[in-house]
Amino acid sequence: MMLEIEGAVLGMKLGRNKPCWCGSGKKLKKCHLLRGQQKPIGIGEALKATKDLKSNRYCSVPNALKDKCTNKIINAHTVSKSSSLKEIADNTNHVLGLKVSMSTFTKNDGVILPEKIGINQASTFKGFCSYHDKSLFACIEDEEFSKTNEQLFALMYRAVCKELYAKNSGTEISELLKSADKGKDIINQVAIQEMAAGFSLGTDTALKELSDFKALLDESLVNNTGIDMCHVIVSSNTPCPVSVSSILAPHVDFEGKTIQDLSNLKVTPEGVIFNSFSSDGNGYVIFSWLKNSLIITSFIETLINQEFSNVFNALLRFLFTVSENIYISPVWWESLTDELRDALTKRIMIGIVPFVPYDNMCLTDDGHVFNGWTIDGIEKINF
Ligand SMILES: [Zn+2]
Ligand SMILES: [Zn+2]
Repeated sequence: MMLEIEGAVLGMKLGRNKPCWCGSGKKLKKCHLLRGQQKPIGIGEALKATKDLKSNRYCSVPNALKDKCTNKIINAHTVSKSSSLKEIADNTNHVLGLKVSMSTFTKNDGVILPEKIGINQASTFKGFCSYHDKSLFACIEDEEFSKTNEQLFALMYRAVCKELYAKNSGTEISELLKSADKGKDIINQVAIQEMAAGFSLGTDTALKELSDFKALLDESLVNNTGIDMCHVIVSSNTPCPVSVSSILAPHVDFEGKTIQDLSNLKVTPEGVIFNSFSSDGNGYVIFSWLKNSLIITSFIETLINQEFSNVFNALLRFLFTVSENIYISPVWWESLTDELRDALTKRIMIGIVPFVPYDNMCLTDDGHVFNGWTIDGIEKINF
């Protein structure tokens, strides 16, 4: 950091026509020369920018299927199924969720607490047209979950498309971050540019991995060919108090062992899709991954080889640490002790604040025991 600040100051001495120290490729005079005197980005501007990001709309299906698209891009639900949220909502049809906005990025210290969200607002994105939303997801929205291949595929596909949609917005957020140093002194300019560069690199890499994964699913969708996936289905005859849908490349397992190095950008990390939801009074947590992702297979084994009674605790540690797209039963949340709620809130912050590396032990047993969901079965499919 010190070196870069010296470099920045030196750059200014060297001249206005030299490339800027921030790596933008622009000349210093066109980039950072007077950055400290520029008008800082106001909260209003930042909020407007995040609002614009949210108004991205397109249908996520591959080109080969686009001829069926309608012009109507709808608010597609991301947590399956949408009635799943009803099962965990309170009597005013609210669940608890996280409202993450640009202001979270700028004030890292702010603690994010789950807030009440109406189930119709919760977890939607504009990533499918009305035709494809219906044709792809009716099997999970309108039918009872019975673990069919079609349903398992739909759950995975929606999770991947939603994540890709969010990551596309991420590239725009990184542009916004790069201008967040207006009006700041040189030390803060360097710090902010460093953070923006890290964020942007992370987003680009994640975008590429996700696009590759989606291409596999797309191919299977277009040609109606199967795809060699493994699944593990954790189920209960009561609704799961937490609804989630996401995809992640884990770097440590449930025993605290490092399983892959995410900082090595030359190696594509292996990812796992996870969905938790409720259907007709039953609750499910499902993990899905490519059969040849052997790192993920052993990751999952460290979860399901635990004593049955510990699996729910382990799932909560995982879901609260890694997912922003999490919806919580208000009744269950209120039933927790302050200590347990605090423990989960701390995990939320790990997941949200960028560049706070996960502790290697973040998924191992921390002694917190949660009630509210009794697991009846763990089913392994194709592994
Ligand atoms: Zn610059
Ligand atoms: Zn469409």
